[in-house]
Amino acid sequence: MLTTTEARPRTIPNFRPYAVSVARVDRLSPTFVRVTFAGAELRHFGTHGLDQRIKIVLPLPGIGITPLDETNWFSAWRTLPDELRNPIRTYTVRAVRSACSEIDVDFVLHGDAGPASRWVQGARIGDELCIVGPDSRGEDPSVGIEWKPGSAKRILMAGDETATPAICSILASLPRSAQGCAFLEVPSESDAVATGAPDGVQVTWLPRGDQAHGSALDPAVRAWTHDFITDAHRGPDVSDVDIDQGILWEVPEPSSRGGELYAWLAGEASVIKTLRRFLVSETRLDRHQVAFMGYWRAGRAEN
Ligand SMILES: Cc1cc2nc3c(=O)[nH]c(=O)nc-3n(C[C@H](O)[C@H](O)[C@H](O)COP(=O)(O)OP(=O)(O)OC[C@H]3O[C@@H](n4cnc5c(N)ncnc54)[C@H](O)[C@@H]3O)c2cc1C
Repeated sequence: MLTTTEARPRTIPNFRPYAVSVARVDRLSPTFVRVTFAGAELRHFGTHGLDQRIKIVLPLPGIGITPLDETNWFSAWRTLPDELRNPIRTYTVRAVRSACSEIDVDFVLHGDAGPASRWVQGARIGDELCIVGPDSRGEDPSVGIEWKPGSAKRILMAGDETATPAICSILASLPRSAQGCAFLEVPSESDAVATGAPDGVQVTWLPRGDQAHGSALDPAVRAWTHDFITDAHRGPDVSDVDIDQGILWEVPEPSSRGGELYAWLAGEASVIKTLRRFLVSETRLDRHQVAFMGYWRAGRAEN
């Protein structure tokens, strides 16, 4: 039994706040800005990569960042008075360099309608904020990773610019023997970058220009599916998802049957919802082999 004078072993949370400051800001392309964040504690940042999501706690004018309790950061944040509660948005870690206590995040520039896109437009070296992410010392540092292909023989990835950091990160980490394809819809052809994908994974950039979100991605996925899907991939019908009432987030655990195909789709919620209907209800792809994620919703702020 521990007495009050004995130190209890500290429980490390799986996902916790890190105090960081901006170390670099690089304009990658018309759409993307890469921000490098540094902070001594980032040496403990979880290192799984892939589509690792994080929360970015953005500064309030004149207040900055209200500190959050390490263990119960979310309830601490929720119970703050309105004037002290910082906006929080979800992003992907594009690179982790634990040895120099740095991480990179690629932000989409989409005007000043939201606190995150507004913040990144004016980001300066030395700006302080808070990032909530995995701790490599926690029991499960894979919290926030949805890429779970199991033993699938072939992969399909599809997403818009908000999913591009995740897709690029996954592509670079695939086994060299991987087979499949990735479709990335971006605003401009100058947004395409080298991905480091294995030879067997065909990467197609789809610049949509002034067209609506999904106008390039949707037909590309349909055409690929038409050529590729066979009865071996077909599963039962499913009901539609109401994206007005909730978020679109369907992320199956790897199938115990070890499917032929694993698909991962993320982007604007109504675009992904339409593709879900096509893939699962019309094409009858087994939903247990597909992750569908609404990364954002046109006309609606996160939260
Ligand atoms: C798991 C996950 C990972 C993500 N990773 C990334 C990432 O690495 N990089 C990245 O840039 N985004 C990423 N996103 C998307 C990002 O969280 C949203 O775009 C978010 O809404 C941006 O916050 P904001 O404060 O700029 O805008 P909000 O305050 O949330 O929204 C304000 C307005 O802007 C619109 N809006 C939001 N995003 C966009 C957009 N991309 N284009 C056009 N209009 C938009 C909204 O519809 C709303 O009308 C990710 C989302 C999830 C769920």
